[in-house]
Amino acid sequence: MTTDTEKIFSFLDTLAQTTDELYLEAIIEACGKWLSGEASPVVSENVSKEDIRRGIQLAVLKGMKQNAQPHHQMTPDSIGMLIGHIASKLSVNEHNLTLLDPAAGTGNLLYTVMNAVGNNVTATAVEIDELLVRLSAVVAELLEQPVTFYVQDALRPLLVDPVDITISDVPVGYYPDDDNALNYEMMPTEGHAYAHHLFIEQSMNHTKPGGHGIFIVPANLFESGQSTLLHPFLKKKTIIRAVIQLPDSLFKSTTHAKSILVLQKPFPEMTATRDVLLAKVPNMSDKHALALFLQKIDMWVSE
Ligand code: SAM
Repeated sequence: MTTDTEKIFSFLDTLAQTTDELYLEAIIEACGKWLSGEASPVVSENVSKEDIRRGIQLAVLKGMKQNAQPHHQMTPDSIGMLIGHIASKLSVNEHNLTLLDPAAGTGNLLYTVMNAVGNNVTATAVEIDELLVRLSAVVAELLEQPVTFYVQDALRPLLVDPVDITISDVPVGYYPDDDNALNYEMMPTEGHAYAHHLFIEQSMNHTKPGGHGIFIVPANLFESGQSTLLHPFLKKKTIIRAVIQLPDSLFKSTTHAKSILVLQKPFPEMTATRDVLLAKVPNMSDKHALALFLQKIDMWVSE
């Protein structure tokens, strides 16, 4: 039997094949037709937001393969699922949760998290690439998720009120705009700053006291060249809550390996700092090991 996810993919794929446009542009157009009712996939009555997100994600992945751009890197579902789990546990008592993703890309990570935390969530998405913003905006409408978009360099001033949780698969590498980087504590005295450091700093600037930042970062974050700037920043401006190593098998090579870093912004009523959770995600195809791992995360959050 064909699933709703497959039906949605095949609807988008068929429409995209009938035009000469760039595949990703054609998907945006197809999603627009779906929204306006001009054409739509034949799906079951109880199609879920996750079915829709996954169907579109398959088409976007195909589009990204056909016309590869170095910065078009959608966050894989397995990582999105873990971040969604952590965010939903951290926000159990929040009734009007606010989220920010300052490097939203296609929105896949953001929507995975929004779908995981459930109702009463609003989000702000910032992304520098205009095509990706048009794509993620039309997907947000299809998912009926309330998201405000900004097409801009997220490291420039942001008109965003502090949020409960910032999530981000941060861009890794050097940030070329030295003049702007001088506004950040993690700008080195010589050479360019690390974009991933500045993204963490900017994200925590836009997170409420007591709120959290959940970041996908290079696994060697704490040992890399400019870590001497990172350590004092994290100590002074954040509380490190967890460092979760992702399985190497999710990445092209061990040099591309990533971890999840969970930070909290200090708040006035803060009591003594608890231990940092240092964990390693098991092989994600091992369902039993993964379930035990998620239980460990739940215990850590409830502590
Ligand atoms: N989570 C995203 C998803 O699921 O599609 C993928 C994020 S991707 C790893 C990083 C994104 O950061 C890219 O889409 C890139 O265009 C964007 N980016 C890079 N530098 C940026 C900047 N200075 N301001 C805003 N976005 C930026």
